Amino acid sequence: MDYNTFLDEFNICSKVNSGEIDETWIWVNGGDGAGFEYTASGPSMNDPYSGMKSCGKNMFVMGFDYTRTWDLALHSMGHRMEFAAKHNHQSEYLGWDSRNHRYSSPYNTEVPLENGVVGCGNIHFPPNAKKHYDYSNSANVQSNCTGSTQTITCSIWGCNQEGFLKWWFSYVPSNWWSSFVGK
Ligand SMILES: [Zn+2]
Repeated sequence: MDYNTFLDEFNICSKVNSGEIDETWIWVNGGDGAGFEYTASGPSMNDPYSGMKSCGKNMFVMGFDYTRTWDLALHSMGHRMEFAAKHNHQSEYLGWDSRNHRYSSPYNTEVPLENGVVGCGNIHFPPNAKKHYDYSNSANVQSNCTGSTQTITCSIWGCNQEGFLKWWFSYVPSNWWSSFVGK
């Protein structure tokens, strides 16, 4: 995925700068033609991995695959929120998540839960997850995500990815949403 060719082909920068569009969503029919799940460029919201040039305004480009279930599009939106929150509210985000260090865990290998109270977790690690994508784990954990410390299991979000992502997004602090849209 050559983002700069894509921007030029569809005249994206002039549309962003004129206010005609705010962001770009690429939907593809399978494969990896959609590029990254999300990327961003602009004066204060730059994701270096895609190499996408700045249009002059902050802009997100999402990459979705319409042959897959829709919870995976929400998953991509979740990674975008992680990026935006870490970008502008890093220490607050890391405390709120409290499990971001788990991203370096090997896939498909269970790791013990942390002791004590955890936060809201992240897109790969719900508060009680023992491995990546562990949305259906019934283990008990103490979490303060909802605003008070309570024992939770996956039943609080319905033990599936869609339910977890909706639950997770519902506790995102309101002041992070402006970062989510690149403002
Ligand atoms: Zn992911």
